[in-house]
Amino acid sequence: MVGKEIYDFTCRLFPINRYLMGEGVRKTLLSIKEIIPEMQICEVPSGTKVFDWTVPLEWKVREAYIENERKERIIDFKKNNLHVVAYSNAIDEWMPLKKLKEYIHTDKEHADSVPYVTSYYNDHIGMCMSERQLNALPEGNYHLYIDSEKVKGSLTYGEIIFKGDTDDELLFHSVICHPSLANDELSGVTLAAFLAREIREMRGHRYTYRFVFVPETIGAITYLAKNLFYLKEHVKAGYILSCEGDNRAYSYLATIKGNSLADRMAIKVLSELHSDYTKYSFLDRGSDERQYNSVGIDIPVCLVCRSKAGEFPEYHTSNDNLDFVCPEGFQGSFEVFMSIIKLFEKNRSYRTKVLCEPQLGRRGLYSNVSFSGSKTPYKVIVDFLAYANGDNDLIAISDILDVPWERLNEIAEILLEQNLIEEM
Ligand code: ZN
Repeated sequence: MVGKEIYDFTCRLFPINRYLMGEGVRKTLLSIKEIIPEMQICEVPSGTKVFDWTVPLEWKVREAYIENERKERIIDFKKNNLHVVAYSNAIDEWMPLKKLKEYIHTDKEHADSVPYVTSYYNDHIGMCMSERQLNALPEGNYHLYIDSEKVKGSLTYGEIIFKGDTDDELLFHSVICHPSLANDELSGVTLAAFLAREIREMRGHRYTYRFVFVPETIGAITYLAKNLFYLKEHVKAGYILSCEGDNRAYSYLATIKGNSLADRMAIKVLSELHSDYTKYSFLDRGSDERQYNSVGIDIPVCLVCRSKAGEFPEYHTSNDNLDFVCPEGFQGSFEVFMSIIKLFEKNRSYRTKVLCEPQLGRRGLYSNVSFSGSKTPYKVIVDFLAYANGDNDLIAISDILDVPWERLNEIAEILLEQNLIEEM
């Protein structure tokens, strides 16, 4: 089961100390390259201007802990990398509990978990622990020690392109900047690697497939700044992959327009496979769909995931761990995206070639075509021909007839063979 392979790969990548930029990102990309050797790894130097932003410095952290007067470590970044605020400045200072508390972040709503906190663009010193642990700390002196530095380096991203018969593209975008958090966002990275492996094994495909692995926000902006002209022309639909490994109901977040091919394929596949999915508007956006859908960029990218980021209690806490994701969760997401890929490959507009209704009996289509479904095959064929006007694609006709798109694709193949329709 590929779901198990994705889960195992997630377990391998989970402990890596990933932050916006630096060794963690490179290590992660090199691991993906073991699965997809074609991947290109690109570096963009700190200080590079990308649209309204500047590529920041890399952050290195060697040690981060708090110890008590008996030299016992209360928390240690080496045990859980969420304990240090990402991009925290260095400190080496003994202080009373009252002062220590000024440096500590907790999540009061989820008192037993360690929150994930970042401070990429502001100077800050901070550590994270559970609210319960903080409340249990006795009065006394504590040693806050963070050995970190910000250095000139580069932003690293990965890119894989599988050329198809045409240059029209389906894009998969995943983000590689979170430390040990399993569902948000590592699950999207590992799912992407295995979707890419599957496409590489496909024996020919009409479309081109692009996989992008970047740190969130600044990575997406950098990637768009470097590739905008080409992407705008060729990407027909795209998906952000994150939160793909839990086993709860599916979610879909629309593009800003809401009716792009990316939206229509997501809605079609989810409504046929998992009709209990939750639909979110673009107003609920949170990840890099923000950049793709922004004014002047206008690349239709939406989100299909299990629990949506920000909507599950484990989100951005130490409870988003390897117990929260599972092989079944990954398997389901893998199948949903493979269905989207199949639909992307097969979706076409057809036009009926005969004026008035064709005589189907003469062609053996009156009763000989059989397949399961609520409508009789004859009725579906007649309805398909009625709506095959050159504008309606398979998704549109499937919506109108309320017949699964794969059945209509079977019918289209028969009608093509009989020369009753033509592909637009
Ligand atoms: Zn996140």
